[in-house]
Amino acid sequence: MTLNIETVGIIGAGQMGAGIAEVAAQAGLNVSLNDVAEERINAALATINGHLSRQVARGQMEEAERKAVLERIHVAASLDKLGDCDLVIEAAAENEEVKRKIFTALRSFLKPEAIVASNTSSISITRLASVTSNPERFIGIHFMNPVPRMQLVELIRGIATKDDTFEAAKAFVTRLGKTATMSEDFPAFIVNRILLPMINEAVYTLYEGVGSVEAIDTAMRLGANHPMGPLQLADFIGLDTCLAVMQVLHEGLADSKYRPCPLLVKYVEAGWLGRKTQRGFYDYRGEHPVPTR
Ligand code: NAD
Repeated sequence: MTLNIETVGIIGAGQMGAGIAEVAAQAGLNVSLNDVAEERINAALATINGHLSRQVARGQMEEAERKAVLERIHVAASLDKLGDCDLVIEAAAENEEVKRKIFTALRSFLKPEAIVASNTSSISITRLASVTSNPERFIGIHFMNPVPRMQLVELIRGIATKDDTFEAAKAFVTRLGKTATMSEDFPAFIVNRILLPMINEAVYTLYEGVGSVEAIDTAMRLGANHPMGPLQLADFIGLDTCLAVMQVLHEGLADSKYRPCPLLVKYVEAGWLGRKTQRGFYDYRGEHPVPTR
């Protein structure tokens, strides 16, 4: 029998964790939100409240519903507070060591039938599942950014993932009103396998002086009809995440065509991670974004 998911734990309250919490609570699910940094949980709750309040102001949501959605989101100060969850989604930093530590610590607090998922953009689900005591109940549930607006969710089965785990994850995605697609467990799955090399190439184009930030983004918006330029998109994703995905592709597929651009490395080393730190290929500290090159 497929597990019915009613209570969802989320580990990592950054841009993705906050988005997943928002859509899950809006779908009527109970949410427990965890982060190592308490201020990230508070920031996530403020962001969610901002989105809901905007919907109320536009007449798309009743005030009572806004309150009810927020009341469904609980703060879980530590992992042992996730014991009643049917599903726990990890959305912490894109770093295999960090994720492994979370999964190793988590399992003992959960009920045996609970499903554990990672929102990783690129790391092998089979490898992450191997540190858990129950890889049959482990799966990749890969949301897109920004979660409330993006329709797609990629589902990635590890080698041991059981059919009922997959079915429960699929039903969960459907309940959120989103569309699930299935990807095999290869580095960066489908969307990022295609998208990130394009972004990396845009950074090379900048690095080699073929065009400025503005020229590259305008070229791809108006010349390829992309809704956002690739450098704007990179800032949106987070340059640390972009670099981490390129490193996984480079190492996992052992092909030099995935070599991360040295300029991307430099931005990350500078701590210029894009929108989330107010500076990346654009500087967001003023009224309008200003290109940094
Ligand atoms: P982010 O930097 O905004 O947030 C990460 C959060 O994880 C931070 O709040 C951090 O404090 C927290 N964290 C770090 N270590 C932790 C731990 N041990 N326990 C609990 N919390 C911890 O990053 P993000 O963009 O939200 O990305 C999160 C995950 O989602 C990554 O795996 C990323 O690859 C994936 N993802 C990102 C995007 C995107 O476009 N940004 C899209 C899909 C998937």
